[in-house]
Amino acid sequence: MKKPKTYFLKDSLLIGKRTLLITLKPKTPEDELDFLAGQYASINFVHNFRPSPARCFSIVSSPYEKAELQFAIRIGGDFTKKLKRLPIDTKFQINGPYGDFVIDENLDKHAIFLAAGIGVTPFISMIKYLSDVKSKITITLFYSNTTQDNIPFYDELMRLTSINPNFKVIFFVSNGPMDPAKKGFFIANYIEIEHIKRIVKRRANSFTYFICGPTKFINDLNHDLININVKPEKIIIEQFTSSNQISSISNLPNKKLEKSIYILLGATMIFGIIFIAAIDNLWAIPQVQNLIYKQNNNNGFVIQLNQNNPNSIYLHNNHSPITSVS
Ligand SMILES: Cc1cc2nc3c(=O)[nH]c(=O)nc-3n(C[C@H](O)[C@H](O)[C@H](O)COP(=O)(O)OP(=O)(O)OC[C@H]3O[C@@H](n4cnc5c(N)ncnc54)[C@H](O)[C@@H]3O)c2cc1C
Repeated sequence: MKKPKTYFLKDSLLIGKRTLLITLKPKTPEDELDFLAGQYASINFVHNFRPSPARCFSIVSSPYEKAELQFAIRIGGDFTKKLKRLPIDTKFQINGPYGDFVIDENLDKHAIFLAAGIGVTPFISMIKYLSDVKSKITITLFYSNTTQDNIPFYDELMRLTSINPNFKVIFFVSNGPMDPAKKGFFIANYIEIEHIKRIVKRRANSFTYFICGPTKFINDLNHDLININVKPEKIIIEQFTSSNQISSISNLPNKKLEKSIYILLGATMIFGIIFIAAIDNLWAIPQVQNLIYKQNNNNGFVIQLNQNNPNSIYLHNNHSPITSVS
């Protein structure tokens, strides 16, 4: 396995009610991660000398922005809550990149991106990258959120539509009020196959479909696409489930240190026990020798170790005990 890269927390910013954008800077230029737009990494941090578990996050920065690595994180459980409270300069270990949720510029000439909520992250990296290289690939992003006032990367997506003539975004809002004055193309609904058919028309298999979001969202759209005869190889899926997590905790230097300390303690205990047993034996042997000596000098008598109490001996003449000595 490749050595993890070391990064430090440069900035941490809330970009929605529960979405945190973290920016990391590499420790040295050798630590800069080489990745393809759409891939993810396994990250963990070290806080109060304790390494956190590792979790996977899609990279939102473009592969061109090597001096920084960005992740957008939906705050929910323990890991992400801790992440939110980390001070600037906290150390991170990055493993990866992983995944094949990537555009093949030779195969994917027209792309439909289907995202729900935080599932937009790999697409942000892809759209930034394709805009950076002035790619001819046409992209339509269908982006579903619950409310219109809480759309992560809304400003960034509007900026990208203004610099990339091949990129369009359609926002879907399933709940809450809609501001008709808000810039952009909005539909008050979930993403449905009819919306996709309006874009792809009769050329469904000329497009490649990338889907990322909750499991139900992925399954439903995948099923609907298959139903309109999209070939399975034209559908590429990224699941944010914990079964897809790559745990790299055993790579952590601090964990290695902990393991070494346990091994050292164990070895010290074993040596300690052997040492004490050896000293005990050395102390006991002269007494036994003493007994043999006494036996030799007490004709007719047997000197015997008391088995229940090795420190005590007794004398007998093969029939009855004569005396017991401690
Ligand atoms: C390929 C991929 C890309 C992802 N990209 C993003 C992204 O860009 N943005 C985003 O917000 N989320 C992303 N996720 C999801 C993200 O990894 C999890 O949602 C996040 O770790 C949950 O953190 P939490 O603090 O909410 O909960 P946690 O404290 O991590 O716990 C949530 C629950 O899941 C279990 N769990 C989670 N991970 C593991 C593990 N490795 N081993 C054992 N149990 C585990 C925990 O035991 C707990 O029950 C991605 C996931 C994958 C697989």
